[in-house]
Order: sequence, then C-alpha cells, then structure tokens
Amino acid sequence: MTTENVRLIPLGGLGEVGKNMMVVEYGDDIMIIDSGSMFPDDEMFGVDLVIPDTSYLHDKKHHIRGIFITHGHEDHIGSLPYTLPALDFPPIYATRMTQGLIQVKLKEHKLLEKAVINVVTSGDRITIGDCVVEIVRVNHSVPDATALAIHTPIGTIVHTGDYKFDHTPTDGRPADFGTLARLGNEGVLVMLGDSTRVETPGYTPSERVIIDSFDKIFANAPGRIIIATFASLLSRVQQVVHTAERYERVVALVGRSMINNVQMAIELGYLNFPKGMLIRAEDINKFPAERVVIICTGSQGEPTSALTRIANQDHRQVRIQHGDTVILSATPVPGNEKMVNRTINNLFRQGAEVLYQSIANVHVSGHAAQEELKLMINLLRPTYVMPIHGEYRQLILHAKLAYSLGIPEDHIVIGEDGDIVTVSPESIQVTDHVACGNVFVDGLGVGDIGQIVLRDRQVLAQDGILMAVLTVDKETGQPLAGPDIVSRGFVYMRDSEELLESARERILESFIGLNGHASDWSFVKDKIRHPLSEFLYEKTHRRPMILPVVMEV
Ligand SMILES: [Zn+2]
Ligand SMILES: [Zn+2]
Repeated sequence: MTTENVRLIPLGGLGEVGKNMMVVEYGDDIMIIDSGSMFPDDEMFGVDLVIPDTSYLHDKKHHIRGIFITHGHEDHIGSLPYTLPALDFPPIYATRMTQGLIQVKLKEHKLLEKAVINVVTSGDRITIGDCVVEIVRVNHSVPDATALAIHTPIGTIVHTGDYKFDHTPTDGRPADFGTLARLGNEGVLVMLGDSTRVETPGYTPSERVIIDSFDKIFANAPGRIIIATFASLLSRVQQVVHTAERYERVVALVGRSMINNVQMAIELGYLNFPKGMLIRAEDINKFPAERVVIICTGSQGEPTSALTRIANQDHRQVRIQHGDTVILSATPVPGNEKMVNRTINNLFRQGAEVLYQSIANVHVSGHAAQEELKLMINLLRPTYVMPIHGEYRQLILHAKLAYSLGIPEDHIVIGEDGDIVTVSPESIQVTDHVACGNVFVDGLGVGDIGQIVLRDRQVLAQDGILMAVLTVDKETGQPLAGPDIVSRGFVYMRDSEELLESARERILESFIGLNGHASDWSFVKDKIRHPLSEFLYEKTHRRPMILPVVMEV
C-alpha cells in the first residue's frame, strides 16, 4: 500500500473560541470532527448565530465518510442543522449522551428523520477507508465527552476534544488514562490539543468542589434557590439534583432547551432524579419557598432566556420574591459580560440574593489548565503538536508549553482557520489555504448577511439614517417638490428643525448646474449625498447613512 500525507484543515475554532470544526483527509477519505457554532459579538448586529464556512467541502461531499462529534456543547454541535443539509447528511458518530443532545437540536430544526446518527462508546474503533477512529473517554463539563485517536497508515492523530482530567467526576468515570498512555507507547504522530484554558496555572479543580459550595448555599438559603446554567452543562444539573435531594427540595425546570436536554438525559439514564422530585414549573407555588429549586437557562444574560426574563419581571411562571437566592453557575462567554452583569443588577434590584463566580465558588471550568495540558502531552508524547480550540494568543501559549516539555519548535504548528496543514512522518507544515470564515445566521437566512449588510447595520446603529425624498422634473432634471427629510436615529426631528432646514437648502443647491445629467440618477444621488454628508458632519460630528430617494414625474 502506498502511503500519502494526512491533511488537517481547521474550518473553525483556531484563533477564536467557538464554532469548532476540523477536517481530516487521508487519500480520498474525509472525516470531519465537530460542527460547532458561536455567539455573535457586539458588532454583528442582529445576527443570531455564527457558523463555519463549509464551502471548501461542497464539491467533495461524496468523499465525506462521517462527522465525529467529540461532545454535545454548542461550539461542537451548534452548526449541525446547517452543515448536515449542506453536505448531504453524512453519517454522524457520537457517544450516547452527545447523540441525545444532537437529537434535541435536530428535532427543533425538523431534521431528525434525515440524519444518520451512529452511537459509539469509548473503546470503539470505527473503520473509515484506510483509517480507524478510536473513541477515547475524557472528562469535561458534560458527560460522555471524548477524544479521538485517528489511526492512519502514516501514524496516529489524536484530537483531544475539550477535556480536563477529573479524578472524581460527577458520573464517576475518569478520563481513560490507560488508553492515552497506550497511544503514547504505540506512537502518536500529531496531537491536536484543546488550548482554551492554557492561561491558567495548576490544575482545574474537580467538578466535585462545587458540591461543597452548593451545600453551604442550600443550608443557608431562606427561600427558593434559582440556579442558572448552560442547558448542556448536565454534570452541573446532576449536582444540583443531588444537593436538592439532601436538603429535601423539589426541582422545577424553566427554559425550553433546559427542559428538552434534561428530559433526554433522564431517558438515556445520564441524569438521575429521585422519584417525585421533578415538578412542573406551573406547580412551583404549591410548595413552600424553602422547599423549591428552580434550574433555568440564561447564565449568559441572553435577552430571551428564562433568567433574563425573570430578572426583568417578564417571566410567565417565575417572579423574584423576598428570600430568593439566585446562583449563576457558569462563566460568561467572552463578549457576554455586559449582558450578564445587567441581569445580575436586575436580580439584586428585585431583592434577590445573587451568587456568581467572582464572589462564590459556584462554577469550575471543564477545560484543562497548564498542568493537565502537560500531562496530556507527556501521556501521548506526540511527534508533532498543533494547538486547537482557542484565540490566537492561547494557541501560541499552548505551543510554548509544548516547547517547554521538549517538543522541538519545528514540530509545533500554529494553524489558523482555513489553513491546510500537511503532515508526513518527516514534517508538518501549512501548505495552502482554503476559503473559510464566519457564516451568519439571521432568522431564516443562512449566509445571506455579508460584510456589506453588517457594515450598514453598524452605521445605522452608530449614527442613524437620514432620508431625503424629492420629486424631480423628467425633462429639466430640476426639483419640483421636496426635499422631505426623515431622520431615524440621527437627530430628534422636532428639536432639529433649523439643522434639517439647512440640510434641505444644501440638497437644492446640489441641483444647480446639473441639467446635463438629468436622468443619470446614481450621479444625482451622489451629488446629493456627498455635500450633505460633509455638511451634517460639520454641524454634528455624526455620519448618518444618507438615503436620497428621487422620483421623476
Ligand atoms: Zn465543551
Ligand atoms: Zn468547546
């Protein structure tokens, strides 16, 4: 058998936190690892979701052998409803819990019937062309998270997924140290390693430490306890349930994705609720306050989420009442801090006691800190290292950490989204680049919002819009009526009559000497736009979008 090089093509997750997607190619076979999504940032006005650009794969669909999902977080499964149809529904491989979270998501998008999901467990080996993919259990903040060992004819590629090493995880199943060590002994060609938490020294604490904090809070809370976390942070939900059981409280779920995920996890046996403990949100008031726990979505301050609604007194079933303790058991995703703080402020304003990460021990990360990253490298002893899952600085820090453990500099590659990284037994290097970037989902539109529309939205948000409507004589090109000026988000019209009157005069002045261009309307519109923009800037130091509307009669 002649051997070929392996090509690694990250389409997301390198140089950013979110929308993870890695393409692995050997010969004619393509494997995809994860298909995540990302929250839009502040400048992406009106965008609901950001997903990877998969156009590189569109003419290679028939070579795609499968999508392997490492675990069920949004940044690993969130774009499946878009990539699956775009790639003709390649088979998905995922562990049981991950499969459950994928099902919940695909059901919401009415895609479940078309999707093919193969359930795998740690230790399984799946043959893909000349390669074998081995599933390896790791710890993370959701049960059933995995790393992948892809055994290719030229060597083994280990993709760590998101991981930490937890000796006392909530589900009682630590990472598979034995397999990781065995892979290292057999020889690992490339390690693709999670870099999310490389800035933190030491070890990430076990999920178990949360239990102590929850115990203290539950012991002292005079009334209801409301806990907000990610709907996919099911290990945390289980901890709340365990604690609620000890303190004889019932638990209600609020928020659609929380209800869906928890129901699924109960059905699959990944979450244990003692009999009679789970109550409906409608029934909360039938129990005394000191016997109630509410688990809800909204730890990121998302505007339509349950916790934000509760904080704004806008929730159908839950109002903050005297004695409530609210726990935000999550870290704000970078960019969401403002929304989270607003929610916290509003909850305090309603009279709740609020506990969150910076003042109480109510969250631990699901990602490996420096010592665990070192442990992974020393277990695998890879020939080559390629940091993944992180902003650019985190990839660099992870590279430096690998270097400090003796991996030579030219054996470490810092890739970015869209790079083609070619690996042979002798070398690893970036050899080419493919189209990649952000695809925006807005409402029902996928990819139709581009940079131009976004720039317009930014201008509109910054300085508003000024419309100038006028009627022009078809023959002479001279104005007959107007201009009527409409401002939205630029100035309050009633208070700015003088300014708008001067603007009107400027527009009429632009028509002087324009006879020759009577019907060249784009020329005329430019003639209006430019001097008007200068004038408005001079008077206000604002640059509203100017929209001339010219009607000829
Ligand atoms: Zn994750
Ligand atoms: Zn992740």
